Amino acid sequence: MKIMMASSEAAPFAKTGGLADTVSSLSLALANLGHEVKIVIPRYYNIDREPLEQLEGPLGVGTGGGEEWCAVYKTSLPGSPGKNTIEIFFVDHEKFFGRDGIYGTPAEPDFLDNPRRFSFFCRSVFQLCRKLRWEPDILHAHDWPGALVPVFLKFGEKYFPGFDNTKSVLTIHNLGYQGIYSKDNYWFTSLNWDVFGAAGFEDWNMMNLLKAGICCADKLNTVSRRYAEETRTQSQGFRLDGVLRYRSEDYQGILNGIDTELWNPARDKFIPAPYSSKNMAGKAKAKEALQKEFGLSGRADVPVVGMISRLVDQKGVGELFGPGYGSAFSICRDMDLQFVILGTGENWCENEIRSLSSRLSNFKAKIAYSEELSHLIEAGSDFFLMPSRYEPSGLNQMYSMVYGTLPIVRNTGGLADTVQNYNQDSGGGTGFMFDDLNPSAIYNTVGWAVWAYYNRRDDIEGMRIRGMNQSFSWEISAKKYIAMYEAALAT
Ligand code: ADP
Repeated sequence: MKIMMASSEAAPFAKTGGLADTVSSLSLALANLGHEVKIVIPRYYNIDREPLEQLEGPLGVGTGGGEEWCAVYKTSLPGSPGKNTIEIFFVDHEKFFGRDGIYGTPAEPDFLDNPRRFSFFCRSVFQLCRKLRWEPDILHAHDWPGALVPVFLKFGEKYFPGFDNTKSVLTIHNLGYQGIYSKDNYWFTSLNWDVFGAAGFEDWNMMNLLKAGICCADKLNTVSRRYAEETRTQSQGFRLDGVLRYRSEDYQGILNGIDTELWNPARDKFIPAPYSSKNMAGKAKAKEALQKEFGLSGRADVPVVGMISRLVDQKGVGELFGPGYGSAFSICRDMDLQFVILGTGENWCENEIRSLSSRLSNFKAKIAYSEELSHLIEAGSDFFLMPSRYEPSGLNQMYSMVYGTLPIVRNTGGLADTVQNYNQDSGGGTGFMFDDLNPSAIYNTVGWAVWAYYNRRDDIEGMRIRGMNQSFSWEISAKKYIAMYEAALAT
């Protein structure tokens, strides 16, 4: 099958979160199954042109404002299977992408011209395929920045040569981000106004790019089965639950896999010693190194609770760190544990975390983004905390389990699909779960885990091994994507 991925991010070139990892890992898994995959993303300012190969001639892209001209660069995706190389293309347009930031900067988090930038990008995907004389079977768009691809395919491009048999798929990685903009930007798409309603752009007199993509794609999915259910409810549907219910027949959840090369305690170059479920000695070494790195006392007997997170509301940081009501302070004050956190995000939260670390000797933080430290935290912690308000898939709970670190998670989205709650009677489970997001639920569940650590040691060790022996490889998920593509082609 020929698949073109249209995304605003792809690891390792442009990444703000899980989307980038998913696009690249899924592409690799599909290529390993023998499919022909290409990826296209914008050429952001931070992507060096030097090592890339430039395609001959400019690419003309029609917009409401006339033809825009851009260059296209390409390289092969690192890790591509030798005989089935994945080409990744970069659409290079100075006016739209020649600046710092993917979606914005700290001073301007959502660039004013984002609807035009990504409308241009989505239109360029079709022109690129034509230039390559490569008719994909599937155009696979990701999130709101790619959401106009299914719209353009349905309302226009299909009627021109090159895409007669092409079908579109849209993956929703996070329904919280929809690309809602003033209708004043609509003209730039070069679609007629009668399409505005027909394609599903209309959103309380605004233009909603994701909603249009949801209405137009041949098949839709999100990144876990539970999140697919939740997004069809009013409480978690971010006002698109009705549209998603309407598209129910074509909408499913497919869990993200993890990169088992990068996240594997037996081969991890960021931890002091490798380990596996058969020989856990290296995990104790990682704990020692973690305590040292964060300036904690080197006690082997105390449980370490780790956390790596974007510090934003979605991740439950209000209930954990909210000044005066979050439970992190009482957790660290009342329980014999050590708490380490790595993260960046909202200012108030970063400040509160700094304040907590100055008040508590067993709470240490690094306000930073560090790939290396994230591996050490996964390996060296006993528990990993993810009290997410919602979690489309989540990666860290899966990393935790394969590193023998027990996740403490809210029963939602991908967390619910991957973690089994501890059963005190049988000793079964792979982690600790709670339903409602409030400070005392987090406090009680961390307390439960710490209690088990001190009083049910055999259960804890059994859960670690159970978690480590699970497989979260991309191959399983890639096969489900293939089934979805086949279903799209059959429409
Ligand atoms: P989301 O995409 O919503 O942020 P995920 O759990 O799906 O959440 O993926 C986030 C990825 O980013 C994980 O691999 C996580 O370890 C990583 N990450 C988040 N914050 C940091 C940080 N400060 N340092 C290193 N890695 C981080």
